[in-house]
Amino acid sequence: MQSFYKNLSIWLLIALAVLLLFHTCKKTPDRAHAVPYTEFLTKVDAGALSKVTIISNTVVWESGDGKLFKTVVPQASDALAHLLRKNVVIRTEEPSQPPWYLQTLLSWLPFVLFAVLWFFYFQKGSGSGSGGGGRALAFGKSRARLINPEESKVKLDDVAGIDEAKEEVAELVDFLKKPEKFVEAGARIPTGVLLYGEPGTGKTLLAKAIAGEAGVPFFSISGSNFVEMYVGIGASRVRDLFSEGKKKAPCIIFIDEIDAVGRHRSAGTGAGGNDEREQTLNQLLVEMDGFEANDHVIVIAATNRQDILDPALMRPGRFDRQVMVPLPDVGGREKILKVHARATKVAPDVDWQVIAKGTPGFSGAQLASLVNEAALLMTRRNFRAITMDILESAKDKVMMGAERRSLIITDRERRITACHEVGHALVAWMLPAADPVHKVTIIPRGRALGLTMQQPEEERLSHDRAYLFATLCTLLGGRVAEEIVFNQMTTGAANDIERVSDIARRMVCEWGMSEVVGPLHFKAASPLNGQPGHLVSEQTMVLIDGEVKKLVQSAYDKARSLLLEHRDLLDALTHALLERETITRAEIEAIVMANTATPSGSDR
Ligand code: ADP
Ligand code: ZN
Repeated sequence: MQSFYKNLSIWLLIALAVLLLFHTCKKTPDRAHAVPYTEFLTKVDAGALSKVTIISNTVVWESGDGKLFKTVVPQASDALAHLLRKNVVIRTEEPSQPPWYLQTLLSWLPFVLFAVLWFFYFQKGSGSGSGGGGRALAFGKSRARLINPEESKVKLDDVAGIDEAKEEVAELVDFLKKPEKFVEAGARIPTGVLLYGEPGTGKTLLAKAIAGEAGVPFFSISGSNFVEMYVGIGASRVRDLFSEGKKKAPCIIFIDEIDAVGRHRSAGTGAGGNDEREQTLNQLLVEMDGFEANDHVIVIAATNRQDILDPALMRPGRFDRQVMVPLPDVGGREKILKVHARATKVAPDVDWQVIAKGTPGFSGAQLASLVNEAALLMTRRNFRAITMDILESAKDKVMMGAERRSLIITDRERRITACHEVGHALVAWMLPAADPVHKVTIIPRGRALGLTMQQPEEERLSHDRAYLFATLCTLLGGRVAEEIVFNQMTTGAANDIERVSDIARRMVCEWGMSEVVGPLHFKAASPLNGQPGHLVSEQTMVLIDGEVKKLVQSAYDKARSLLLEHRDLLDALTHALLERETITRAEIEAIVMANTATPSGSDR
């Protein structure tokens, strides 16, 4: 869009320049031969002039043989008098003036230029890309993207794994299809629906599907598009958006990232732009309040930060229906995978349930990109269908970023990494409460040099203390193994340590898992959600710190004693990992069996 206008204005300027040039050249008798004034006078006296034309200070004439001459005269009136005395026939002409349209254009040129510059400045400032529909030239316009019913291809069937959310919005489809019926029955249909949930769970998709299913236009805009540098623009965009919507009713207006506008008014970090945001929010509230039952416009908003929204947004008549769009569970993930694999050939060995089990915490968007990644891999490997193997690789890529096989790692680094990862894996292996180890790899991916993947047997919605403690031990296992084998510490454990601190602190402060502190909630004040933290006495803070530290220390001791006890296994697994780069659960099992003729208290 932006480049279109840029091109347009550049062409306009060029056309203008050409026009001007053409115009100035046209009237200049440049074929005429220039003659000094004195010679001109003698010619006049000799009567050797015909077809004389005076254009301001220039006299143009033809000689007897049809040649064209011109002379610039000091005083046109003198020359005129002279000519008249000799009875020469004279035509006078207005000095060449650009025609009126050019003149107007010329006098407006600075303004036009200024406006063009201003426009591009604004485009940059507001992050373009979402403007469109050829209406981007006005600042106060909503810049919403419009998908007409003919173009929309998304149907409710394309949304999978979030059945409850789907059910909650299903009646909107009926309403949009036949609004009169609902109005006659006196039913009150919500004008505002708030979809909230993690990013990529399909909120946008669901809104689009409602419009697609009902066959109504779909306006979409992101909340961040409203918030501009200049006060008032956001509000006028909101006004424009709603008036456009009413013209196209019945329709859906979708506002993504509503939190950009609708953040709690007393909160906010005060970093400027607050006035503008408040004005925009107020306008939004005004527009929603102004809805009549027969406007037949449904506003759907989406956010992943419902907690920071201004309560005013959720009052009756506004976004009074809130629908949570959760991350899909195992069954949901399987369905989403299948939906996205519809267009691709799938080998008979593919068991979607296994993939779904191995992707806990994946969002719909991640699952979609998993399938897409698999299709790409399939093409690259010249396969005809997606196989289980390909899906496994695609999963790893989505989960951990692309492999970086080209990364140059020193031999010592490689050995330390292998030892570190085996430390994690072995501790997890030895603790029944920990998630089973799925595989261990030292192929660098993203920023990680190696990775230990665990896979829960089933989906866990809550965690018990034993599980959390086992997680702490597992996380610390990496660092402990480095210490045991290389007798030193590296920075490789930074991320593990961060997670350990986080889990341990939450065990004490949020989940009441420390006997000394007791089942009390201590949450730090967060500047973002504007909630005041609980008042905590200094004594309690010391107590909390002590408990967190004690917890981490005991996890550390546990990991250390486990690894010391199984030092031979630690070495054997590290050796295998260095050799094969990736070892799976089955391979670990074989090595453990071979190394422990008499199993010592471990159940795996
Ligand atoms: P959100 O708006 O919640 O951040 P999106 O709707 O933009 O997420 O999801 C991005 C993409 O992920 C969708 O276009 C779709 O391909 C895929 N996706 C997400 N959730 C689902 C779902 N429940 N079913 C099918 N596909 C999904
Ligand atoms: Zn680690």
